[in-house]
Amino acid sequence: MALIVQKYGGTSVANPERIRNLARRVARYKAMGHQIVVVVSAMSGETNRLLNLAKEIMPEPDPRELDMMLSTGEQVTIGLTALALMELGLKAKSYTGSQVKILTDDAFTKARILSIDDHNIKQDLDDGYVVVVAGFQGVDANGNITTLGRGGSDTTGVALAAALKADECQIYTDVDGVYTTDPRLVPEARRLSKITFEEMLELASQGSKVLQIRSVEFAGKYKVKLRVLSSFEDEGDGTLITFEEENNMEQPVISGIAFNRDEAKITVLGVPDKPGIAYQILGPIAEANIDVDMIIQNTGADGTTDFTFTVHKNEMNKALSILRDKVQGHIGAREISGDDKIAKVSIVGVGMRSHVGIASKMFRILAEEGINIQMISTSEIKIAVVIDEKYLELAVRVLHKAFELEEA
Ligand code: ADP
Ligand code: ASP
Ligand code: MG
Repeated sequence: MALIVQKYGGTSVANPERIRNLARRVARYKAMGHQIVVVVSAMSGETNRLLNLAKEIMPEPDPRELDMMLSTGEQVTIGLTALALMELGLKAKSYTGSQVKILTDDAFTKARILSIDDHNIKQDLDDGYVVVVAGFQGVDANGNITTLGRGGSDTTGVALAAALKADECQIYTDVDGVYTTDPRLVPEARRLSKITFEEMLELASQGSKVLQIRSVEFAGKYKVKLRVLSSFEDEGDGTLITFEEENNMEQPVISGIAFNRDEAKITVLGVPDKPGIAYQILGPIAEANIDVDMIIQNTGADGTTDFTFTVHKNEMNKALSILRDKVQGHIGAREISGDDKIAKVSIVGVGMRSHVGIASKMFRILAEEGINIQMISTSEIKIAVVIDEKYLELAVRVLHKAFELEEA
């Protein structure tokens, strides 16, 4: 007997027939003697629908109230899922995040899980129930409903698996595993039967939305056995996230390509080139809990420098007004501008550690297509570039081909 957490994304619960299909799979696992916890997302499109409703009333919605209403999407699917399980004769019980209780911090719309009370779930599992938990949501110390950021149901699934010490966490979605890049953009993309945790972490952090980054972080921290599978197929092993270091000479240099259309670039022009400037620019941004990704600073010959960084598109305006109100006059910067017509493309692979010339090959491929690189950042196993968003598809396709990632 194993304890398995199965997480189903929006397309996997998009209508009653798919929810019944989910219930049939759970019934098969129950029949094998396993204990099952199901985590579900809102029906596909629902979170966007709710978000748009809120924006119709308030263009930049108050985050606490936004979470209050966004969390309802998942509350509908847990009820429906429990009903579908009951219709198959199973004992089932659903819980919202706050009922569980999944305690988070109070960073509305992007809260972090602090702890999970597993008491009721364990009791229910021992009593033979399938437990159904709402993904994407939690509750803060003051009882406010919070949400975990887009794609956050993955994190609920993995965090629950960690808290319950589950034998496996299965992420059921609309693709049959993790591919060399998003198969929607590159049909020649190839499914990986396994991928190292480090590579998955980089791919997720660089924008592959097949797994939310925080879910991968949890899997790494608590060594959760994590597998991505198709909810539309009953066969297939999907992709396993592995923890062991492969020492395989056959290992390709690049394992995958991620891209991200969600970032915006902010440039502070003509700032004095002296100590403390980076802190004075980014300090107020951090205080506002705005995540910063890439950072570039150039050294100018005339004693001034340009400072560029990227944030989520949703937070560009907030970051710009903080800089204009609190920073620009103070440090004497000439100009502050924002550009949300950018995209980031990243190549990822542990094989990069033992190979040289990967970055120059990437830059050559992009140059041959006339694609200008605006920013570059690297880690031991990743090279990321920011380019004009209109070249995103082209860049991903040519890199996928040049690094020989296609189906053989
Ligand atoms: P769910 O609703 O099940 O959480 P998501 O839409 O969040 O599903 O994630 C699955 C999608 O992730 C796929 O449909 C695919 O378009 C996209 N995706 C992006 N990069 C990859 C990748 N490397 N491998 C597989 N899917 C990817
Ligand atoms: N429903 C949420 C979203 O659309 C959470 C999730 O699907 O994981 O982002
Ligand atoms: Mg998702």
